[in-house]
Amino acid sequence: MNPILSRFTNVTEQSVNGQYRANCPECINRVGKEDTKQKLYINVDKVNYTLKAKGCWFCFRCGYAGWGLSASSAPPVVESYADKLSELFRMNNRPDMELTLPEFFTTNFNATRLGLEVKKYLYLREVPQPLIVERGIGYCYDGPLHGMVIIPFYDSGGKLTYYQGRSIRGKRFYNSFKGTKRQIYNLKEQDSVVICEGVFDALKLGEYGVATLGKTPSQDQIFKLIAAPFKNCLIAYDADATAVESAALAEKLMGIKEVSVLKLPPRYKDVGEIPNTLIPEVISRGAIKVNNLADLIMVRGLHGV
Ligand SMILES: [Zn+2]
Repeated sequence: MNPILSRFTNVTEQSVNGQYRANCPECINRVGKEDTKQKLYINVDKVNYTLKAKGCWFCFRCGYAGWGLSASSAPPVVESYADKLSELFRMNNRPDMELTLPEFFTTNFNATRLGLEVKKYLYLREVPQPLIVERGIGYCYDGPLHGMVIIPFYDSGGKLTYYQGRSIRGKRFYNSFKGTKRQIYNLKEQDSVVICEGVFDALKLGEYGVATLGKTPSQDQIFKLIAAPFKNCLIAYDADATAVESAALAEKLMGIKEVSVLKLPPRYKDVGEIPNTLIPEVISRGAIKVNNLADLIMVRGLHGV
């Protein structure tokens, strides 16, 4: 059986060669509804020469999309990778359900005692003050998200696509139910980006900082990274992720973007811990270029911290 097909359940072959339909495994996570109607369309023959991948899939309900395993030999480029990608993205960026900020959300930190506490929390985490205003960061003064900092995600058209909440006491998180694995925080038209795990890491890097909300980006997020216009990227995942997750992402972006991986000095667990004033120095010392297999093998050898 084709390895792509074996990933999915209820696969049926269509009348067109190489085309299949299956139940989408991601609908439940992304739109909160289990797919029993084979909304996932698969083409096992489609080849992407840039990604050296063969076979792709796309869900017409939740937008889950991806490419299959590496083609064993990469034939010369005969079709435009950009065309394929834009086609996929057109489908993937159909209008979503309307999302609004949670009830009791406010950006007025001086209005309540809790607001002042949130302001102090952001200050201690060294979130640059102008970014708090520019990105519309606020908090909830009541309701189920009471006491949480709320980080809204807006697309380039200013539309709210997602938001994440984080309690200022303890480690409670809240994700607006819009598919965490489709979001990349602050990915815009930058020339260079620093790819972080979490939004608070990304915020410390100002305009450059983007976050994949975890260290194992989905196929969908990887496509978004590839399609974004940036030329250079630095993968700055947490210290424990350098050899495995950072290297895995570097491998996927290598050859398409200029890629470096950040090896953090042993005293920091993540970018969020580095004092803002030391970030430029840590980056200039710790960035390792990953542009070929030898570089990659070297990074994969960086176990432990
Ligand atoms: Zn789906």
